[in-house]
Amino acid sequence: MRLVRPGDAGYDEGRRVFNGMIDRRPALIAICETADDVRRALERAASDGLPVSVRGGGHNVAGNGVCEGGLVIHLGGMRGVRVDAASRLAWAGGGATWGDFDAATQAHGLATPGGIVSSTGLAGLTLGGGIGVLRGKHGLTCDNLVGAEMVTAGGDLVTADAELLWALRGGGGNFGVVTSFEFVVYPQGEVVAGPVEFAYDDPRGFLRFYREYCAGLPDEMSCDLLLRSGADGEPRITLLTCWTGDLDRAPAVYAALRARNPINDAAVRRSYVEAQRTYDAISPWGQRNYWKSNGMAELSDGAIEVLVASCDGRRSPLAQIQLEHLHGQVHRTDPASAAVGFHGATYNLLFNAKWLDPAADAENLAWARDSFAAIQPHLAGGAYVNYLLAEPEERIRAAYGPEIYDRLARVKARYDPHNILRLNQNIRPAESAHA
Ligand SMILES: Cc1cc2nc3c(=O)[nH]c(=O)nc-3n(C[C@H](O)[C@H](O)[C@H](O)COP(=O)(O)OP(=O)(O)OC[C@H]3O[C@@H](n4cnc5c(N)ncnc54)[C@H](O)[C@@H]3O)c2cc1C
Repeated sequence: MRLVRPGDAGYDEGRRVFNGMIDRRPALIAICETADDVRRALERAASDGLPVSVRGGGHNVAGNGVCEGGLVIHLGGMRGVRVDAASRLAWAGGGATWGDFDAATQAHGLATPGGIVSSTGLAGLTLGGGIGVLRGKHGLTCDNLVGAEMVTAGGDLVTADAELLWALRGGGGNFGVVTSFEFVVYPQGEVVAGPVEFAYDDPRGFLRFYREYCAGLPDEMSCDLLLRSGADGEPRITLLTCWTGDLDRAPAVYAALRARNPINDAAVRRSYVEAQRTYDAISPWGQRNYWKSNGMAELSDGAIEVLVASCDGRRSPLAQIQLEHLHGQVHRTDPASAAVGFHGATYNLLFNAKWLDPAADAENLAWARDSFAAIQPHLAGGAYVNYLLAEPEERIRAAYGPEIYDRLARVKARYDPHNILRLNQNIRPAESAHA
């Protein structure tokens, strides 16, 4: 374990996270390479009385990977990925990114559903749920997690039993520091993938078309929608598409999109690894971000009105509204097998305020909050915890639903009864959950 302090080389790099609004200065950054390093880091935090944060890929928009004045357990030294092609299993270290995982598994022609930006941490994404382009075929990322090793908040190295594994499939970093993730992986060859963009001249009509298009999508197609501005500053509609099935069938699936005369069509045949890097360039680190998100059962005409008004009222050209379409295996998976509150949603909605100037914070926060308030009558079901900011307990409870939350609280009481790991979408240990 290497300890980095303020003023040391690597301190600023070690405390940096994706969201430019987060600027926390930890007292110590413990760069860990082994599970024993993690145990020693937890021991050190306890002996110095320091709060703890755990950093996987650093993408969490709430900045939960880094803490003010505490000790950061930095897993950047644990990025290894091992693949057993014969048994179709892969193991990843607690600090691996999706870029690391996709490159290692694709070397064997294999993949599992993962994030669409290569620098996103595998740990945080998996522990919160995980929405990737293979979701229609294979479900959420966490649905494919079949084993884990974890250092508990008290410093014990445990192999996940069935109940802990259930909790790690969506319950976040509440229970300990996961040092090894074991996934099922599937054969995956080349894909047809990329953005297909349309003029913003009839957004209501386009959103109704999108709703119908998604309703008929085969499992192999993922199609998410962004209302955003192009390089010219003008609003446009971007579909993030990926066809992961038989390449001969791709033209038929894209035909309805191409019939609507896209202004830009970059959906082409690519390796899966290349497809998984397509959106890196539009996701730079350091921009200011504020997110509001929830599941939606349907994209009603009323919801469309709110989305269009919200797009028209954006305060920053970087801001975007995102709809992720959930279908196929996501809905076929037994909801009792994972600690996820949005398995049944048809869309995951995100108002993503993004801007550069700190002087514009208030107006951008207001845009996301006002948009979220306006869409309330059209929301249903739980929320994806990985898209939430620092939220009160009631919001976390509502995101999971009370049954999942209470079961998670019992698992939390078993592995972290003193809530040492609380810089996350926090589950309060059962004894004090309703104190
Ligand atoms: C540009 C961008 C693209 C994204 N794309 C997707 C996407 O395609 N699909 C999707 O589902 N989500 C996506 N997300 C959301 C993403 O799932 C969350 O931001 C997630 O929290 C990132 O995990 P991380 O490890 O990078 O984050 P971190 O900030 O490092 O950690 C997030 C949380 O997990 C905990 N944690 C991290 N590592 C461990 C560990 N090993 N053991 C225990 N707890 C740990 C941390 O304490 C923290 O609470 C994206 C986010 C961004 C910013």
